[in-house]
Amino acid sequence: MFDNLQDRLGSILNGLTGRGSLSDKDVQAALREVRRALLEADVSLEVVRGFVERVREKAVGAEIVKSIKPGQMVVKIVHDELVETLGSEGVTIDLNAAAPVVVMMVGLQGSGKTTTTGKIAKRITDRERKKVLMASLDTQRPAAQEQLKQLGEQTGIDTLPVIAGQKPTDIASRAVQAAKLGGHDVVILDTAGRTHIDEPLMQEMAEIRARSRPHETLLVADALTGQDAVNVAQSFDERVGITGLVLTRMDGDGRGGAALSMRAVTGKPIKLIGVGEKMDALEEFHPKRIADRILG
Ligand code: GDP
Repeated sequence: MFDNLQDRLGSILNGLTGRGSLSDKDVQAALREVRRALLEADVSLEVVRGFVERVREKAVGAEIVKSIKPGQMVVKIVHDELVETLGSEGVTIDLNAAAPVVVMMVGLQGSGKTTTTGKIAKRITDRERKKVLMASLDTQRPAAQEQLKQLGEQTGIDTLPVIAGQKPTDIASRAVQAAKLGGHDVVILDTAGRTHIDEPLMQEMAEIRARSRPHETLLVADALTGQDAVNVAQSFDERVGITGLVLTRMDGDGRGGAALSMRAVTGKPIKLIGVGEKMDALEEFHPKRIADRILG
């Protein structure tokens, strides 16, 4: 593993104890380590730049007090800035709209969209006692609609019956209609993904969104996305318009830098995190925990 940031900054800055305040030069050396730590945590380069700049502004000229080592002081500035950038905790899915409330799930293939659709449906059913309908709009991957049907059977949540050959936009309209007729409070649309961002995918998502008018559009993204996180989040937000993020595979070894990157470029809240394959492996987002993890 890497040395943690506190040790690295300690060796650079702790000799300054007893001096007045942090100079530009002291901070310069420390920021190189901050930058390295963030890149090791897989935060995108462009997000690291802006972040380091904000830390610089807060650290230069900061008074060195006796009670706290300079290294710790800078770690605290970094930690606070991480928490601030990551956003507030406890922002969950907003279902405050006329029934059926439409929730649209978007993301790249393999990001965990279908699994997360099942998890969210179960959470809403269990915790809020709402009646949920799940619909797969993924006509790209032959097994996708079947996968969602099985999740429905496993969790006891309704799924929209599959009609072979129907277009995603038409499935979206049918899902909303079925939810109205079936007395469902919430309808979750699980859309298709691709291995990378492309124009037809974005066009399809934009059309589905226009047709179904979702109250929430959640981007599901793998926490291990790395440097591509910015591009993925920015593309979906600009082309489709998202209302929040769900980070999956937070149970893995990754340091979670993608969370910071995606949040920083979109400004959209991280609403939930996926921590495993099981249907109950979905947790609320706690910025402090992710900040600790990014710092290692
Ligand atoms: P989709 O293509 O975006 O619909 O992705 P899937 O929902 O099919 O998920 C792809 C794989 O990732 C499956 O094997 C899931 O079980 C797994 N997966 C999804 N979310 C998580 C998570 O939070 N943690 C772990 N460890 N695996 C996950």
